Amino acid sequence: MPGQCCPGKPAVKRLRIGGQEVGIAGYEEMMERVLEHVHESDDEQREALLSELRACNYVPPSSEKEYLGALWSEFRQLRAKKLGQVEEQYRGIPREEIPWFPTIDRERCTNCGVCVDFCKRGVYTTSKFPMVTNPYRCIVSCTGCKDRCDAGAISFPSLVELRETMKQLRKKYGILTD
Ligand code: SF4
Ligand code: SF4
Repeated sequence: MPGQCCPGKPAVKRLRIGGQEVGIAGYEEMMERVLEHVHESDDEQREALLSELRACNYVPPSSEKEYLGALWSEFRQLRAKKLGQVEEQYRGIPREEIPWFPTIDRERCTNCGVCVDFCKRGVYTTSKFPMVTNPYRCIVSCTGCKDRCDAGAISFPSLVELRETMKQLRKKYGILTD
């Protein structure tokens, strides 16, 4: 259930939403209340965020997704701080929103371990066979391990797909240039 909109004059935070600066009333109180849901699922936290946002602000239905995207990005940083984690970003975009990491074809993999030894970012771990256990540590646009896999078992999205994804994410976060 959304909290009461802050009494008196609500503090306004200016955010870039859909390429424009928008003032969000009651921002700090809203974030504090949603942070109480920190151990619930992302979907539940997003729902709480939207509900709190609507309690203090008019949200045009056609722009709801953009409002939520901008607030969610802010919320994730506060959540990471609260949990003692660091929100990793790549060029101003939360790293976890960029789908760039290796995928291993189990049929082809010969279990040689080259990828695990080669990647110094700890993207892979191995027990019986190599696994991608820390995908978002992968350096965006790096394909070093793929080039060293003689079995051709490692794949990535294409650079064309990456460019298109980055274009959409820059738009989402109001980032004008790369
Ligand atoms: S380098 Fe290729 S074949 Fe070797 S373990 Fe990694 S994925 Fe498998
Ligand atoms: S592409 Fe580079 S950073 Fe990513 S897993 Fe392979 S070696 Fe590691």
